[in-house]
Amino acid sequence: MTSHIEEVRKLQPVVMKQLETIFQKNRVAHAYLFEGAKGTGKVAVMRAFVKLLLCEKPIQNVSCETCRGCRRFESGNHPNFVQIEPDGQDIKKDQILQLIFEMNKTGLEAGRKIYVLHRADRMNTSAANTLLKFLEEPEGLVTAILLTDKSHAILPTIRSRSQIVSFRSIPYEERVKVLIDQGLTATMAATVSMVTNDVDESLELAKDEQFLQVRKTVLKLVEAAESNVNEAMLIVHEEWLPVLKEKEETERALDLLLFAYRDLVAVKANSDAAYTFPDLLPFYQRHALHISFEQLSNKIEAILKSKQQLHRNMNRTLLMEQLMLNLQGGFLFV
Ligand SMILES: [Zn+2]
Repeated sequence: MTSHIEEVRKLQPVVMKQLETIFQKNRVAHAYLFEGAKGTGKVAVMRAFVKLLLCEKPIQNVSCETCRGCRRFESGNHPNFVQIEPDGQDIKKDQILQLIFEMNKTGLEAGRKIYVLHRADRMNTSAANTLLKFLEEPEGLVTAILLTDKSHAILPTIRSRSQIVSFRSIPYEERVKVLIDQGLTATMAATVSMVTNDVDESLELAKDEQFLQVRKTVLKLVEAAESNVNEAMLIVHEEWLPVLKEKEETERALDLLLFAYRDLVAVKANSDAAYTFPDLLPFYQRHALHISFEQLSNKIEAILKSKQQLHRNMNRTLLMEQLMLNLQGGFLFV
């Protein structure tokens, strides 16, 4: 997603205000912990904040974009800015030692030095212990920014030495709007926003050939399952099983099927909930008249049961055939 300052402000207005105030009052701390779910714009905000801190002529708490500091940051080679990511599974002690060495090195550019730990929750204990003292009392003008979407996994000793910056989750309607602005159709935006909270991941999904194919298959399957079990079986054998080879792919497809039935419940209940598949609305409206809440609840239960069976590695052909029979009846064959 674009990290234009206006976009970032829209995404996280409170956080941006908080950081701009810190900058304005010249109260930049030694360490910040940015915590929030995936897709809440932590990296975009971090980049805006770091650029502001490195800018030589900020204008009203925004980086100027033209000075040497801004240009070096944008080109990815500002000498006072270092980023660390997990090396394999963990952020390791050696990485932290190297980082401290670089931060203490003299002869760097004058001014503030900044380091960022991506996925800071992946620091192993010895890495975290190595970082502690430096985090609290760095030499010179140094600021740490730790990013995490698993704040419960951050050691309390690290947490207590950091200023916490909490990122809000982005509401469904807002994510849909952003995606439409980025060129997705309203129906596709509705679907992918239901599958993931992460706007970037949503955009990738909407371009993923397999996902588009599976979405189409699910739409056909819902209508068939509700009218003609033989046709549903045919779709399963010709379009579902050959395409969905991996367990995770099957699970996502079953989730889409589940969302379709959730839509149907919402239509029947006349709720103004957001629909995963707005393009099925005419079908939902016709069909909702002929189906009871009890039948719908049984069907949803049948899909959930299939998901459990998937995890127990049940034969997938059998699993899908059984599911089609269960959806047809609206009562459960075990
Ligand atoms: Zn600048």
